[in-house]
Parts: sequence; C-alpha cells; structure tokens
Amino acid sequence: MIGGAIRERRLPVVRRADDHGFGELLTRLAAYLPEEDLEGIVEAHDFAAKAHEGQNRRSGEPYISHPIAVAQILAGLNLDAGSIKAALLHDVLEDTPATLAEIKARFGDDVALLVDGVSKLDQLRFDSAAEAQAESFRKMLLAMVQDLRVILVKLADRTHNMRTIGALPREKQRRIARETLEIYAPIANRLGIYSLKVELEDLGFKTLYPFRYRVLERALRRARGTQRQPLRRIESRFEDELAANGIKARVTGREKHLYSIYKKMQRKHAHLSEIVDVFGIRIVVPDVDSCYRVLGLAHQLYKPMPGRFKDYIAIPRVNGYQSLHTTLFGPNGVPLEVQIRTDEMDKVAERGVAAHWQYKAVDKHTYSTEERAREWLAGLMEMQHSANSEEFLEAVKVDLFPDKVYVFTPKGDIMRLPRGATAVDFAYAVHTDVGNRCVAAKIDRRLVPLKTPLGNGQTVEIITARGARPNPNWVNFVATAKARNAIRAYLKNLRRDEARELGRRLLSQALRPYSISLRRLPKARVAALLHELGLEDMGTLYEQLGLGERLAPVVAGMLAQHDGDDTELAQKRKPLEIAGTEGLVVTYARCCYPIPGDEIIGFMSSGRGIVIHRTTCGNLAEYRKQPSKWIPVNWKNNVEGEFLSEIQVRTLDRVGLLAEVAGKISATHTNIDHVRVDTEGDSSVLLFRLKVKDRKQLAHVLRSIRTIPGVVRVTRGTG
Ligand code: MN
Repeated sequence: MIGGAIRERRLPVVRRADDHGFGELLTRLAAYLPEEDLEGIVEAHDFAAKAHEGQNRRSGEPYISHPIAVAQILAGLNLDAGSIKAALLHDVLEDTPATLAEIKARFGDDVALLVDGVSKLDQLRFDSAAEAQAESFRKMLLAMVQDLRVILVKLADRTHNMRTIGALPREKQRRIARETLEIYAPIANRLGIYSLKVELEDLGFKTLYPFRYRVLERALRRARGTQRQPLRRIESRFEDELAANGIKARVTGREKHLYSIYKKMQRKHAHLSEIVDVFGIRIVVPDVDSCYRVLGLAHQLYKPMPGRFKDYIAIPRVNGYQSLHTTLFGPNGVPLEVQIRTDEMDKVAERGVAAHWQYKAVDKHTYSTEERAREWLAGLMEMQHSANSEEFLEAVKVDLFPDKVYVFTPKGDIMRLPRGATAVDFAYAVHTDVGNRCVAAKIDRRLVPLKTPLGNGQTVEIITARGARPNPNWVNFVATAKARNAIRAYLKNLRRDEARELGRRLLSQALRPYSISLRRLPKARVAALLHELGLEDMGTLYEQLGLGERLAPVVAGMLAQHDGDDTELAQKRKPLEIAGTEGLVVTYARCCYPIPGDEIIGFMSSGRGIVIHRTTCGNLAEYRKQPSKWIPVNWKNNVEGEFLSEIQVRTLDRVGLLAEVAGKISATHTNIDHVRVDTEGDSSVLLFRLKVKDRKQLAHVLRSIRTIPGVVRVTRGTG
C-alpha cells in the first residue's frame, strides 16, 4: 500500500496490486526520508526489478521480493537513502547481466561502492569449524569493507535469507545457520545492532537445533502466560512510584530471546526453569541522573540481590551498550531483572553503529562515512572514562579500522598479515623454506608478481622451485620482520659460501707466479700463516679474501716468504676467469656496464668482493692509485646470464620516435630495463639500459637502431 500523499505527488509509476512489499517500504521510508530521496529509491527498485525479471526465489516468489525485504529491514533501522538503494540493488551484480559501471552511472559512486562491497562479501564462504578461524573470518569481513553500511546491508540480507531458509535443502540450511551463528550474529553484536543480532541468533538456533528450539519455545510461552498478571502488577507499581517522585519514565516488560536462554543454560549448567522463571522489566528515562534515581527507588521497592548490580553507564560494553542492570527479589521470591537507561542509550542498544547512518535532516552532506564511523568511536571513547579505556578503544579500533589483511591459504585456512604484506611475506609466514624457495605467486588463481600487496579475502598460492633462492631485492618491499630477517640470514650464508669459493680461487691465482699449489701447501706453513694473521682456519681466510677484506697477492707473498707484490710477479699471474655464476661476491660496475666480450679488469672492493670494470672506464684513473687492489680478469668462454648495458641514442625531436626505437630494440629480443629522455632544443637523447648476453647482441641492437630515420647517432655509454 503506497502512502496516498506519495502516490499523488511523487510517484507516477503505476504499480500492480502485488508489488512485493515495495509500497509498504515506501510508506515506511516516507516517514523519515525527504521526498527527493524517494525518487532515487523508486529508480533503484525499477532497475533491480527489471534486472531480476523472470527470476524466482526457491520459495517460488519473484526474486525482487528479496531485495525489497532486505531494504525493509534497513528501513526499520532508519538508514539513509544510499543504504536503501544498495539493498535494492545488492544482488544484481551477482545474478543478472547488470554491471557495476551501469550502477555507477545511474546511482553514483556511493551506491556503486556499497553494491560492489556486498557482492565481494558474497564471494567469501566460511567452511571451517575451528573457533579461531571464525574469529579471523569475522575480522576479515570487517576488514574488507570500506564503508560499514556494506556490513549493514549484508546483515539485513542474511536476516531475510534466514527468514526464508525453509525452502533450501537441509544440508545447506545447516551450513548457512552455522555460519549465521558463528559469523554474522557476532558481527551484529559487535556493532551493537541488537535487533538483528537477536533475530539472526534465534533463526540460526531454530534451523540448527529444531527440537531444542521447540522445547524452549513452548516452555517460554507457558512461563509468559503465567507471568503476565504479576508482571503487569510490578510494572504499575513502578509507574506509580516513579510518578510520585516526579520522574518521567517508560516501563515495559522485557522479553528474552530463545538463543540467549539456551546459551545461559549451557554456560551456567542451569535448569530451564531457573532461567525462564524470571521477570524482566526495562525503564527508559530522559537523562542519566534519572537512571541513578530510578535505581535507588528500585532498591527501595524490592530487595536487591547481592552481587548482581552492573553499571554499564559508567563502563559501557565494547559495542557501546549502556545501561544499569540490577536483579531484585520480586514477588514470591521470583527474581526480577531490571534494566534502566536513557532514550539515547535505548536507541544505541537497539541499533548500535547503525544509529550513525540513520538519516539526519541536518548536515547530511557534511558527513562522510569515515567521519560517521569516527564519530561513533569518539562517542564510545567519551562514554569510556574508566581505567581500561585504552584497551577498550583498541578492541574497537582493531575491528573497525584494521591494520591487518586476512587471506586464505589454498586449503582454506586464514592467515593474518600486516597491511601492505606481499606474496613474499605470505610465503615466509607459511614457512621459511617456502619463502626461500618461492619463485612465483598466484592470487585468486592468477599469476602475479611476487611483490604484489595482498588484499583481504584473497586466496594466495605460492609456487616454489628446488634450488631457487631469495632475491636480495625482496628486502626492499617485504612488510614483515620475519621475511626480512629470513632473507637477510639466507643471503648472509650464501654470500659467505660464495666468498669462500672466490677467495680460494683468488689465492690459488696469486700463488701461481711462485709455482706454489694451494693443495700441496705444507701443514706447518698454513698453521704459521694463520697464526700470523690471527685467524682460526683457512675458511675464514678465504672468506676475507673473497670479500676483498684482505688481498690475495699479499697473503700469497707471505706464504712464499716474499716481500711485497712487484709488477713482474703481477704480470705472471694468470687472469681469473669470470663465469657470471659467482653470485653476490662479483658485481658489474654501474659506471661502465661491462658485458661479455668487453676487455675487463677487477677491483677488490672491501666487503663487496670483486667489482668488474671495462678497461676503458673513466673511473679507472681514480682506482689506479691502489694498484695492489687490481686483479687481472677475463670472461670465460660461455658466460651465463644477462648483463646490463647502457646506450645513448641522439635523435631529432620527432613524435613517436621513442616508441619506434623501443620497438626496434624489442624486435631483437632484447629487454629494456630502463629508459630516460633528455630533450635539448630540437633534439633528444634517449638513454636506454638494456639486458644483453654479450657484445654480439648489443652490436645487433645498435645496428638496427641506426637504420631508423631521425636517429642521428647511437653510442654505447662509457659512464
Ligand atoms: Mn541477497
């Protein structure tokens, strides 16, 4: 039934007699939303109705009845127009050809974001039975949403699905009910939305344990029947007393919900009658002062039970709930539980965080959702003047503004990582060996670079390879200490092994002019040397030689009992062969970029091992001052790997030339590592850093670039 006023002035849309509850929804919305908002809501409804046209729910009803019912639940919380539109549209992305772009174009970014958020949550499925996993899953859900309204829509969606769950097969019913009790009801509770929490719990309980539910329901109905008269008398006694004391108050009988009774029986091992045979009333007053005055009156009317008074006004619950609780000895000794609170507290108790997304006539546009969440937090903080406020705030913050991401392993376990964590962090979190041997990662079954930051709800799979090792660059992007330390430790060990190998080669090369073989050195000579150097063993010596901390010719001279390292001897030394597989202890200078085929020379750099330069490098003059640090090197015949090389391309400034040059380079199957463009007047210099195997490949690249019109000169950089 559409409200008369709305139909006449606002809604030209002609509706069939059965509009699946939309008219009723509009009537309810018209009570608190301004008219201009209703138009957009009608539009969202029409869009959804058209998208779902021809689809039916399992119960046989047209599909559109579901989103309308979800919107109706949110209207019950007085939520804003954006939430209502999102509720109407929440299933169109999943189940119809409608796209996010369409929704964005027609209903704006705000609504699109909400619909997208709900759709993403729908893709998560909770299967685990473990308690800890349920906790993580709840946090994952909260972490996934940018806007808490997404959760509100999702909770309403789940509530309606639970109401209509009877149409599903039994097994599915049980799974959904369990998920509702373990995930969604606790979230509703966490956010303080009592009405949804209660309904989700009772529906979940009813579905999962139909027999226990029936027994309890019957017992509760019977108890309520016998309690009605005495409860009425208690209420009026309170009303009279409050009026006599000039306190304005609303007194109502309070009903317990089945699931909380069930939980209490389990928790306290109590018999049904102990929990059901209790009176409950709630007294709502205008201000906090009155709460405490009412408490005093209550304790005069009936004797309080010791140890049962709780002041949740001074110390609110984590979800913001505030109230005074006390239990009295009621008529005939039946316990009487009393809750006392203000109107404002009552609203928060029913609606929790949802109260902050309710439509507000003033200031509507100055509130961003983030601000509203913060406002809620600030409100909680203000209430919380007690000693444990910091802890309390931490608990709320962690849930609402999480600094963690939650991802799934391929087996469905949930892993918690700091925000910004990458696939490599994930690999090390699984196991150090997995991290050390990881070569690739899949997120939601798609291959991604290892440095990809992880997002909530993603499934991450790590691909490892035997013999793979960590890349030193990983240290630059990993977010966890565990990954960083493991990579460093691995590299340190690796570097030590590589340094020892290189050091041994350097020493044997340096001994050659003396015709001394390292393998045939007398033991006594070795011992004397180590003693003189103050070292434990040859391994340490090799390591120091390999890292350039000690010079091989000097040590060789000591072994040969020959002073100094004269040029004659140096010339007799056979060059050390560079194979490209030396690892971390041999590096290629970034000034001249040597590549196989170039004439090269090695420089022992303390702590870094050998740095290879081209003999034409401009920096050599500087290093010439330390001749003892130079070692002759040359390339091995078949050098492995790719080497960086730099080329300069001087061109006329012509549109598209850069792309053309880059294209030519790619056509030679050469990878470009980096490009820089310097423009001077009407000419440009393109600086390419390439990855090549050797001089032959580089020559091929240079030749092919020279043929491009507009290219003036191509040279190899010399640093
Ligand atoms: Mn739905």
